[in-house]
Amino acid sequence: MSDPLPSDDTRLLLRDATLADERRVDVAVADGRIAAIADVGALTPADGASLNCLGGLLSPSFVEGHIHLDKTLLGLPLIPHRPGATVAARIQAEKDLLRTLPLSIEERGGRLIEQIVAFGTGAVRTHVDIDTEVGLSGLEAILRLKERFRTLIDMQIVAFPQSGILRDPGTADLLDAAVAAGANLVGGLDPAGIDGDVGGHLDAIFAIAERRSAGIDIHLHDPGALGAFTLRDIAARTQAAGLGGRVAVSHAYALGALDDATFDSTAAALARAGVAIMTNAPGTGPMPPVLRLRDAGVTVFAGSDNIRDAWWPYGDGDMLDRAAVIGYRQGFFSNDDLAHAFAMATALPAAVLGLPGYGLAVGAAADLVLLPCAGIAEAVLERPRARTVLKRGRVVAADGVLSGASAFGNSL
Ligand SMILES: [Zn+2]
Repeated sequence: MSDPLPSDDTRLLLRDATLADERRVDVAVADGRIAAIADVGALTPADGASLNCLGGLLSPSFVEGHIHLDKTLLGLPLIPHRPGATVAARIQAEKDLLRTLPLSIEERGGRLIEQIVAFGTGAVRTHVDIDTEVGLSGLEAILRLKERFRTLIDMQIVAFPQSGILRDPGTADLLDAAVAAGANLVGGLDPAGIDGDVGGHLDAIFAIAERRSAGIDIHLHDPGALGAFTLRDIAARTQAAGLGGRVAVSHAYALGALDDATFDSTAAALARAGVAIMTNAPGTGPMPPVLRLRDAGVTVFAGSDNIRDAWWPYGDGDMLDRAAVIGYRQGFFSNDDLAHAFAMATALPAAVLGLPGYGLAVGAAADLVLLPCAGIAEAVLERPRARTVLKRGRVVAADGVLSGASAFGNSL
């Protein structure tokens, strides 16, 4: 039995939790941080507040490496997916749809934030559309969500040119203004496939990143040798600009369909430059080979990408599910490989996002998720929905339900 949980605790004792290394411990939390980790029974709560973890797995919070809070259609009846023959056609179809929605970005995105917090996600990198039609209005809505939910989730924002940069003149200036207004990173989209000019597209992005001291996260769907060429160009520019560790490429499908020599030279360039790769393990087509890239020194981290939107009707934002999908597609069977899938939803994106104080160690932020599992492999395979979620030492969700008032009526 657990003692009653305080509603706004500054001190809490988590009793009998299992860590990733299978040690059973007590964890003391004070003022939003992990104050002590000791053998079971060795710590006593200062004010009597405690939670019996019953030997469950205690992990740092999940980290969502790639999401689009502004695009989700959550809160609306299911809108049937409309396929488009080309990316350009789908961009236009999405624009047409978003103009007609009865719910705002704050309403739809707010629902998604509440949902992923209840799953145990404590930090998120969201891309937000910037183009000459919507300007910075999407960013402004996301900034309001960031402020509104700041006690539940840490948010990093990528200014994303969904309609291209060169094919939508004026977008480069808007991206620059977006970073000045609060976006943390500059985005990009298929320099060849969308803009038809790899150099011109990357010139614009890197100029803004260097001027504003911002990071970069580029959507790259361009396949094969063209995609690999673009990846090596991004790596070279990253090195030249001294931006190692602050640049990511999302999707990079090309890495999953290269001959060995091209793969090796491209992976080596990415590793040397400190460029990370995000994957959501899409259901069709090639994806980056996770362990091969890891062994080459490239960080590959996980993200949901689209959730119930015009691009993709699947997904709910559960990063434990995402780890399982990645493991399924990559043929991860051993405990070590399943642990790597789990790391792709926790420590690896935390490192890419540069989250301060992330981890399960004394002094780290008490951003935690408790799972009713004996270890990490079980967690990935079983994906239990019964979870207890802490943010800065405060219990913010249990069994899929947010503590306190849910602004959008979420009950998972
Ligand atoms: Zn995306």
